[in-house]
Amino acid sequence: MNHAANTLFVDYSLCLNCQRCLAEKVCTVKAIIRIDRDEPPFIDVHRCHGCLVCVTECAASAIRSIHKT
Ligand code: SF4
Ligand code: SF4
Repeated sequence: MNHAANTLFVDYSLCLNCQRCLAEKVCTVKAIIRIDRDEPPFIDVHRCHGCLVCVTECAASAIRSIHKT
C-alpha cells in the first residue's frame, strides 16, 4: 500500500457519470464501486492499494486525492 491509498475519492463535481466508467474497469482489486448505473462510482478505501491507475484512466480527472501529491 502506498501513500495514495485511503486518500482517493471521486469528486462528484467533476465526475461525468460515464456510461462505462474506465476507472472502474481498470481497477484490478475492484475498489471502484458503482451500485447504480445512474449514480457516480465511489472508492472503497479498504480495497484500494493506491496504484493510481484509475486516476490516469478517468478522462474527467474526477478521481482525486485529499492530499495534493
Ligand atoms: S471515468 Fe471518471 S468521470 Fe467517468 S464515471 Fe468514472 S470516475 Fe466518473
Ligand atoms: S488507485 Fe488503484 S486500487 Fe485504488 S481505486 Fe484506483 S485503480 Fe483501484
